[in-house]
Amino acid sequence: METAGSGGIVLVTFGEMDRESLSFLPSVLGKILGLEVRWGPALPLPLRSYRARRRRYLSAPFLTAVASLPAESSRRLLGLTDVDLFTPGLNFIFGQAAMGGRYCLVSTARLNPRFYGEPEDQALFRERVVKEAVHELGHTFGLEHCGEEGCVMCFSNSIADTDRKGKDLCPNCRRRYIALLEQL
Ligand SMILES: [Zn+2]
Ligand SMILES: [Zn+2]
Repeated sequence: METAGSGGIVLVTFGEMDRESLSFLPSVLGKILGLEVRWGPALPLPLRSYRARRRRYLSAPFLTAVASLPAESSRRLLGLTDVDLFTPGLNFIFGQAAMGGRYCLVSTARLNPRFYGEPEDQALFRERVVKEAVHELGHTFGLEHCGEEGCVMCFSNSIADTDRKGKDLCPNCRRRYIALLEQL
């Protein structure tokens, strides 16, 4: 585990996002990534990025808002929103990251079983949030998509893909992650 002074991961929420339902996240992420994880500011929803025709938000303004936060002692910033996101060329996204950059974004909208008309399942919801958060943070550290079955760095094109993969890095990705972390 890194010491607090070396800078960890800061979680940023948008709008009225319920932090209580995500209270598990810092400790779980911290364990998987071996870094201190803490809550940061809550930012206003970038309302102008709403596209009524698609009934979802353009992701870029969310990333820009996270990116504009002061670096302080954080190595990485993860933005969390419960609204549905898209980016030009992709009808929807679970998340987005600046490859090897400082910040990334996860939308929990499609991670909730109720989005698919399924019954409430907090355990499943939490597991999906962890997977997508580790995945996007992995990209910020420089990890690419992985073909290893079960690895959290597998590309998710659908919620079935997310459910199929695990929430941890495969041995290869973990080795690479540790090496990348040392270069920071
Ligand atoms: Zn990815
Ligand atoms: Zn892997």
